[in-house]
Amino acid sequence: MNNVSSAAELTDFEMTLFALNYATRMLASTHDPQELLYIALDTFTDFAKVERAAIFLLAEDEEHLRLGAMQSGAEVTSLEYQLPVDGTPLGMVLKAHHPHLLPAASHPIPQPAKGELTPDSEPMLCLPLIGRNTTLGVINLTRRKGEFTQHDINVLTVVATLVAVNLENARLFEQATTDGLTGLYVRRYFEIRLHEELMRLRRREGCLALIMCDLDHFKRVNDTYGHQVGDCVLQEVAGLLQRNVRHGVDIPCRYGGEEFVIVLPETDLAAAEQVAERLRAAAEAHSFPGPQEPLHLTLSLGVAATSSGNLLSEQELVHRADSALYRAKEAGRNCVCRWSE
Ligand code: GH3
Ligand code: MG
Ligand code: MG
Repeated sequence: MNNVSSAAELTDFEMTLFALNYATRMLASTHDPQELLYIALDTFTDFAKVERAAIFLLAEDEEHLRLGAMQSGAEVTSLEYQLPVDGTPLGMVLKAHHPHLLPAASHPIPQPAKGELTPDSEPMLCLPLIGRNTTLGVINLTRRKGEFTQHDINVLTVVATLVAVNLENARLFEQATTDGLTGLYVRRYFEIRLHEELMRLRRREGCLALIMCDLDHFKRVNDTYGHQVGDCVLQEVAGLLQRNVRHGVDIPCRYGGEEFVIVLPETDLAAAEQVAERLRAAAEAHSFPGPQEPLHLTLSLGVAATSSGNLLSEQELVHRADSALYRAKEAGRNCVCRWSE
């Protein structure tokens, strides 16, 4: 017996289950909290059949709700905007822990339109985003053709739970994989990703490069100006790395103290050397904030690469990049060296 129905034979209930299954997969497809918000908006607008949606998240002070992301038609954006929890309809929904359908004209809550927030007094459905232990925020849905039914609200409540739990997980993932001071990935994450990328090269033709870099004479900064200034320099270097590598492709990590490593997938030795040179030049040209005058610091960098035809182990690749970095220090610092026998 064929138990797979054609689309025409599906009941509304089965259609809802299919849609929820798809939404569950989409929401679990990223670890990036901001990307997750955009997927959540898409999911909510699809399920609710609304034109406009905005997600407000509880700020760290727990006294404000700040706009996380908003959608108006096909336009999805984020703006700096926040409103107090106390005394506002959204704050009330947050505290009440259950959905509220706010009738027209009862709540001039700003809603997105053409990249701006403007007061919108259409009927608005507000659902709290309730996670495992906390309420993370509220989603507003408005401009729907026809009224929200209890069935809609029940299904949207399930979607809100999916969003909240995935958002909590994404935040935990971010905390576990990023370094608190610099915002770069931590060493353990570097090791996992390097392993994954090398496994990929076993299955598929390609190449990969590593850049190791270390601040020159960094100890002097701490000794002269104190650790807080040193910390600030490390944050600035992290910014330089992030701005000078491919976002979402290369993997910049804090390897230890003032030493950084970048995994560059699909990059050969010559291309990685160019990236390293760009980083070196960017650091040399950068004015690091100092207590009185700007500080000038340099980076030494070592580069190594591997490819499917000549696949190295993680240890060997790291060893080669590290040896090249050592040679850059020996060569007088503020330079790039590639690994050689
Ligand atoms: P070289 O050019 O040979 O690399 O010299 P260096 O002074 O940079 O190297 P050294 O290894 O002697 O000193 C590294 C310094 O980095 C010492 C340590 O106090 C500092 N450091 C490591 N982690 C941190 C951190 O998180 N914050 C601050 N402020 N300093 C750190
Ligand atoms: Mg150093
Ligand atoms: Mg060092």
